[in-house]
Amino acid sequence: MNKVLISADHVICGPADQVIDHGAVLVDNGVISAVGTAAELDTSVDESVPRRHCPGGTIMPGLIDCHVHLAFDAGPDPIHTAAHTHPDKLAAAMADRAKKMLAAGVTTIRDLGDRDALTVTLRTSIESGTATGPRILAATTPLTSRGGHCGFLGGEVTTDDEIRAQITRNVEAGADLIKVMASGGALTPSGPRMWEAQFSPDQLRLIVAEAARHGLRVAAHAHGTDTIAHCVAAGVRTLEHCSWRTADGIVYDPEIARSIVENDVAVCRCVSGDWRLFMEQMGPERSDALIKVIQNMREAGVQFISGTDAGVPGARFDDYAGMLEFFVSLGFSHAEVLDMATINSARALGLTDTGILTPGMRADLVVLDGNPLTELRALRRIQHVFTAGRPLT
Ligand SMILES: [Zn+2]
Repeated sequence: MNKVLISADHVICGPADQVIDHGAVLVDNGVISAVGTAAELDTSVDESVPRRHCPGGTIMPGLIDCHVHLAFDAGPDPIHTAAHTHPDKLAAAMADRAKKMLAAGVTTIRDLGDRDALTVTLRTSIESGTATGPRILAATTPLTSRGGHCGFLGGEVTTDDEIRAQITRNVEAGADLIKVMASGGALTPSGPRMWEAQFSPDQLRLIVAEAARHGLRVAAHAHGTDTIAHCVAAGVRTLEHCSWRTADGIVYDPEIARSIVENDVAVCRCVSGDWRLFMEQMGPERSDALIKVIQNMREAGVQFISGTDAGVPGARFDDYAGMLEFFVSLGFSHAEVLDMATINSARALGLTDTGILTPGMRADLVVLDGNPLTELRALRRIQHVFTAGRPLT
């Protein structure tokens, strides 16, 4: 059985312009079996089915975070902590972080780099019901160059054979996708600079082909403008960060942006909830440049998906709404950011069973106090969260 009929003032079915006023959703055994007006469903659904009425509330699809690191603690030195914590203790901390994300309304996360494939273990516990948390897509060990970005996670590769072997190891560990650190990154100051490529265009093509041979997609960490172009040409599905860096500062290239759009590559422009502080520290000139390239990409029609990079310094696991507020501060509409957080992220991740509320989809949904289409802060007032029909208790 496990049926429940949930009703509220609004149901955002997704995309965000599809709204039912005084609507209801019938959950049956983990799946959505009906969506309609509360009046309709209340009469058609058997009286014995439990009802949850949420006056003043909105039911919407569960949120998706496409870029997290459960193995990192969001403290000042997450690398050191992750590397020096006993695996059992780290696994417990990761389970706790996953639960925090679920409580913030996040029903699906994509983990883009962990240690010892601990996310796969947690994924299994959540699937079997022995742990509570969002659905996890795990990249396990990111591929990186020797001495490169996040090399301490164990994915350093140089030759083509090493690339193939690491991908095989990840597949055997249960990876849902492959992550490549295509350029340098801020967390690894001893590695290549953020704009510098860590792999050649041929190697990136090999990584995509090898992942595809195992039926997996590739997410590429790409800060450098050249690297972005090479990743798109190689066939990666999502670009992480995509900050258009060069040795001479930020350089946006409309031709490359066009190829991102034409190749249907999604951009996960990771922003943590504490973006205001981050921008302040960057200073007006650099933060203006960062904002300008996001606006340029939006005007070019680039598809954004949502990611908090939770786990890196300052990026908390319980502030998903803060990330969406950043995009609203740049002029994105509420509907646009809600779609980014749900239907568009699901699509970019290749998930066809979540991100919208229609019959047959997994019952991944949140109930908010208020309406996020008129007041985004409603996302901070979570009343209920269901993941595959299971309520968070
Ligand atoms: Zn990351």
